[in-house]
Amino acid sequence: MTLPTPADSFSQSYVEASAKFRVTAAGAGAALTRYANPNRGPNGEALATDVARFGPADAAGVLLINSGTHGAEGFCGSGAQIALMAAGWQRRLPPGVALVLSHAINPYGFAWLRRVTEENVDLNRNFVDHAQPHPANPGYAEIHDWLLPAAWEGPERETADAALARFTAERGDLASRTAQSSGQYTHPDGMFYGGIAPTWSNRTFHAIIDAHLRTAQRFCFFDLHTGLGPSGYGEPSYVGRDTEEGFAEAQRWFGPDVTWLSRGTGASQPLGGHIGEPFAPYHARGVTGPVLGIEFGTHPREVVRTALRAEHWLHRRGIADGQLAARIKRDLRDAFYVDADEWKAQIVARCEELTGKAIANLAQA
Ligand SMILES: [Zn+2]
Repeated sequence: MTLPTPADSFSQSYVEASAKFRVTAAGAGAALTRYANPNRGPNGEALATDVARFGPADAAGVLLINSGTHGAEGFCGSGAQIALMAAGWQRRLPPGVALVLSHAINPYGFAWLRRVTEENVDLNRNFVDHAQPHPANPGYAEIHDWLLPAAWEGPERETADAALARFTAERGDLASRTAQSSGQYTHPDGMFYGGIAPTWSNRTFHAIIDAHLRTAQRFCFFDLHTGLGPSGYGEPSYVGRDTEEGFAEAQRWFGPDVTWLSRGTGASQPLGGHIGEPFAPYHARGVTGPVLGIEFGTHPREVVRTALRAEHWLHRRGIADGQLAARIKRDLRDAFYVDADEWKAQIVARCEELTGKAIANLAQA
């Protein structure tokens, strides 16, 4: 079979991405596992997370690369994963090292052009201990109705935007960003809602890492994201195990441009309940390795923020059709995915660079 080129590795829909991932993985000799999601896509299509594994079943070193935590951000992550297979990284694995690609962990968000799951949950805020009281974010309650005003266009929106600008002027930029996007557990119809129980994607992710890190003594995890930072730049953001030693290890493996999420040194403000949390038990029992979010920039922060607000507004108001709905959905996809060959080439080059470094370190460790 002919493997896709970097630009051909990217897709225009979840359906295309999912099929291309499975065909490419099968052609490259992967062991494939499918986790079926109980929902359907906008055209009645089946939804699933697919996992491709290359390398020995009892690998001591595992590189796990995940896409689509934030639904529509999967356009980028899917393309990168397919490009890695097309470039033949599965044939360059040293003895004892496995490569595992987890495709579309939030297939509902990917298919429906949402950043959140079918539960309206930001998966990257959902990995908290739900038996404990949920983290408080009192700032969010203050701005919820301004973020999602009664009307998206006209006087209500203008009043809401003025109130948000006042909030930022009075409290500062960091407090404003923290209120809005660090996660909230009180408004199920709101933005950056972390949920009060593990979502399907959360449970599926746990099943995937339990299956694939079973024999690992060391591992590396990349979670592929978009929407923050300079366009085309891939920022490696250290998210676990959240120690000086762990951060030093991440910089040793990947270089000085690794940032530290919980210290706020990168494009994202610190946040809890992220997808690095499920690796804590592995680190606790001595399985070592860096856990990184890779954040690829798309458009200026304000463009991304407005697209996200609009899509949440649409969902909260229950509007599915019409010109405004179509425009908002298109803007949402465009906010998290730059459909241009040059951008895609930058994404693929960065993923190949980081994959090469991870594999070299997994072999040596
Ligand atoms: Zn993301």
